Amino acid sequence: MPETVLLDAKKPQDLERAAQWLRQGELVALPTETVYGLGANALDERAVREIYVAKGRPQDNPLIVHISRWEELEDLVTQIPPQAKQLADAYWPGPMTMILPKSHRIPLATSGGLPTVAIRMPSHPVAREVIRRAGVPIAAPSANLSGHPSPTTAQHCVHDLWGRVRAILDGGPCQVGVESTVLTLCTPVPRLLRPGAVTPEQLRAVLGELEVDPAVLHRIAEDAVVSSPGMKYKHYAPKAHVTIVDGDLDAFAAYVGTHQGDGVWALCFQGEEGRIPGRSLTYGRQEDPASQAQALFDALRMLDELGAQRVFARCPNREGVGLAVYNRLLRAAAFEEIAL
Ligand code: AMP
Ligand code: MG
Repeated sequence: MPETVLLDAKKPQDLERAAQWLRQGELVALPTETVYGLGANALDERAVREIYVAKGRPQDNPLIVHISRWEELEDLVTQIPPQAKQLADAYWPGPMTMILPKSHRIPLATSGGLPTVAIRMPSHPVAREVIRRAGVPIAAPSANLSGHPSPTTAQHCVHDLWGRVRAILDGGPCQVGVESTVLTLCTPVPRLLRPGAVTPEQLRAVLGELEVDPAVLHRIAEDAVVSSPGMKYKHYAPKAHVTIVDGDLDAFAAYVGTHQGDGVWALCFQGEEGRIPGRSLTYGRQEDPASQAQALFDALRMLDELGAQRVFARCPNREGVGLAVYNRLLRAAAFEEIAL
């Protein structure tokens, strides 16, 4: 077990240490605009294998490779369709990941055994600077233990990965708060595999056509063949049993009122606490899905710390970024939702 070092992204010498460790094949958790990533040299099979060990991640769950310049893409994939360039022009750097056919430079450990690879150019200045200084593409899944909610602060990474990684680079809280939008360009029609801050409407504005994978909104059997392996695993889950409750605030409050007991919490929107019986915690403002995205994973972790056993969550609106919020909450709730 390595001794973990906490680094400060405000110090240039700490950025350099993070980059050097990455270049040398060590693991460093670093901030991105979506969530914190657990970085390793994406071209170094041994380093990438350490990611799976540190996270306890299933080996067939592929990693996203992060780059800091468009030119780096050429070596990593065998084809760059015109749509990839158009999407990159519109949404890179930013919270969008594209799946393309991988080149021989990407080890199978990085792609989870698949012939394709997921690539993203993050917009977070710290992530970009560390990748640039490292001089290699950085494979970085979320920097949480597998099965825990994704980390949106350095403290979340400390909680999950202390003693399991070389360093954690603290760059403050993440702005977006949910993982990147993932789409594949390896299907006849581009297909959304995971919703994120770049919305289906934004992707359609560039692509024209976009299919939405059924796994975005529906439970997929653990043994099913899925286009995005990450989607078959129970994700983002706190220890509590979570149920999404779809209905207006009055109906929600009444429902929660009849289900009080030990360890019961309501997960609601800001300003609603006073109207809901029992204990409650908030995740953003009802009319502002971006604020929900930013707050959701921290709230799920907080529920664990508070010892919540039974959680009733207000249902987010599914428009725009709300689709990503709803998708993550569905997984936290193991797809349990009731409509009032
Ligand atoms: P994480 O970085 O932890 O958010 O996980 C990355 C997710 O991206 C995985 O769980 C997959 O679902 C998806 N992904 C990465 N690479 C591929 C790929 N080559 N094909 C399909 N999905 C991928
Ligand atoms: Mg993850």
